[in-house]
Amino acid sequence: MEPIVFEKSTPGSGSTGRSGGGIRSQFSTPTNVELSAVSREYWDEFEETFDADIRRRQPGYLFVARNQETAESLASDVEMQNRLGIDSEYITPERARELSPGLRIEELVGASYSPRDEFVDPHLVTMALVRALEDDGVDIRRQTKVTDVVTEGGETTGVRTRDGQIDADAVVNAAGPWAERIAAMADVDLPIKPELHRIAFVRPEGKLSGSIPLTMDLDTGAVFRPEDDETVAIGGGSESPRCDPDSFPRSATLEWTHDVLEGVTELSDRFGPGTEVCNTMSGLYATTPDAHPVLEETRPGFVNVVGFSGHGFMHAPAAGKLVTELLCDGSASTMEIGSLSSERFEDGTTMPERSVI
Ligand SMILES: Cc1cc2nc3c(=O)[nH]c(=O)nc-3n(C[C@H](O)[C@H](O)[C@H](O)COP(=O)(O)OP(=O)(O)OC[C@H]3O[C@@H](n4cnc5c(N)ncnc54)[C@H](O)[C@@H]3O)c2cc1C
Repeated sequence: MEPIVFEKSTPGSGSTGRSGGGIRSQFSTPTNVELSAVSREYWDEFEETFDADIRRRQPGYLFVARNQETAESLASDVEMQNRLGIDSEYITPERARELSPGLRIEELVGASYSPRDEFVDPHLVTMALVRALEDDGVDIRRQTKVTDVVTEGGETTGVRTRDGQIDADAVVNAAGPWAERIAAMADVDLPIKPELHRIAFVRPEGKLSGSIPLTMDLDTGAVFRPEDDETVAIGGGSESPRCDPDSFPRSATLEWTHDVLEGVTELSDRFGPGTEVCNTMSGLYATTPDAHPVLEETRPGFVNVVGFSGHGFMHAPAAGKLVTELLCDGSASTMEIGSLSSERFEDGTTMPERSVI
């Protein structure tokens, strides 16, 4: 196989460069947990394999629940995760406060924690991968936009760029928030919504050590995680508007920042009135109706690896492995991917993921 990568800008210029770099196994569906488990081995070996420092930090993820129903879902998610080999645990609010000092636990009824959930730097990961691919002779064509997908007699046979038509045995659509547009070039209709998600970086009034877990209130959506010993990334908010991937706001509004600060203040006593807002950032999730990706050969020669709904960075290793199997062997063998077919949107067999950050 001689892959060619067409990139309309530069590697990492899309959602990957705006990602939080979070890697977790705490999901509510077995499919997402399995995608995490398949990816885990790769992340564990990444630095050694690629001889690269990717700023790995492993403080774990802590999910807390205010409502009894949410707590019960968390407990059953943990059981399912444990069956699939993930060492997450269901814990009390008191234990949650030990892990995340300052947590306001008066109204919490339960929590779950996974110590191996972690963060890495998406830019360092992208650069390490690009270097390794180019060292292996892979042709990465920067500033080369795919303008059409060529289809002949129901089969995809190549793409068009400013350099003309390039024939291929298969075309893989991995265009993140632009994926719906690439699919449309092949007359394939995929329900992928580019959705705005924002992060603010703040310096909290109270000390929050860099080793505390990402802490998320599943009932309000408020979330924070230390970026380093001084800065904390915060997020949440209910609004995730659809945006044009070619023109969307690159930073957060005052209103959003204010709402999110209120949310984390309700969650932890560390965000007092002296908290400083250092920066804000936004990017796009490529969201499907059930927050699972589409991973399939949609038609002969046209493969979609799209719609990762905010989990595409951490699940990229599994996605790469499964697509390679599809292309080289004709089917995926590492895990069952029938549930990731786009047919689910028509036949109603979707499986909504509850734990979306
Ligand atoms: C604020 C934020 C925080 C996030 N946090 C996390 C997290 O903690 N963990 C996690 O796993 N995920 C996270 N995500 C989601 C994650 O960033 C994405 O799921 C992932 O980066 C998708 O990777 P991708 O390669 O599919 O898409 P992208 O990184 O968007 O890459 C698609 C590429 O396709 C190129 N392209 C588009 N159209 C064309 C064309 N016509 N021709 C040629 N090239 C084209 C683009 O230039 C782009 O570089 C976050 C996202 C955001 C916005």
